[in-house]
Amino acid sequence: MPINTAAFSTILNELRSINATLVAVSKTKPAEDIQSLYELGHRDFGENYVQELIIKQSTLPKDIRWHFIGHLQSNKIKMIAPFVYLIHGVDSLRLLEAIEKEGRKLDRNINCLLQVHIANEETKFGFDTKEVTQVASALYEENKFSHIRLCGLMGMASFTNDLEQVRKEFQSLKSCFDQIRHTFPAPDFKILSMGMSGDYKIALDCGSNMVRIGSMLFGTRN
Ligand SMILES: *Cc1c(COP(=O)(O)O)cnc(C)c1O
Repeated sequence: MPINTAAFSTILNELRSINATLVAVSKTKPAEDIQSLYELGHRDFGENYVQELIIKQSTLPKDIRWHFIGHLQSNKIKMIAPFVYLIHGVDSLRLLEAIEKEGRKLDRNINCLLQVHIANEETKFGFDTKEVTQVASALYEENKFSHIRLCGLMGMASFTNDLEQVRKEFQSLKSCFDQIRHTFPAPDFKILSMGMSGDYKIALDCGSNMVRIGSMLFGTRN
């Protein structure tokens, strides 16, 4: 399936004026599709599965910034820790500790976003808005996370046609983000990753500065 270059340039134009970043979500799509977008100058790609990411990373250009956006299991961190650019879905203290451990072994600071559960669905991972503030304070106030670079927050809205609901959820994540930034003014804490193909315009409206878009660029997945 050819990539949708028209959608690609439309999205880039929408993002440019507000200085937001596009993560092209390439999960399940062949390496050739990634290569095509790479040749148009794109460097930020998102993957959900460790095995798939490892294979793609080993064959594709080395200057790609790989975003891990899926649910990460502790025992798989070591496979991506040497090269991953940003882990979006850090959803437990245990995972944070495991990432710290790998970062220490490699002497590498690993960029992370804390995932916040904003949807009214049981199935989505993440901290609730109260927990995430506590985790941020633990990170900033204890020295044991010296190999984690906390770069911001990530969230997914409910899968629903109720756009007001989606907007409310994104707004709640934005206010959580602002509150942490206000309490712990750290220069690295600046990414708010929210918005996918179906809801990225609402997310941008609500203050997102990083969108994760797959099917609009690469076509629907099986
Ligand atoms: C698959 C996925 C996306 C992209 O979804 P599309 O609807 O195809 O744009 C974004 N974020 C996460 C966490 C995903 O798993």
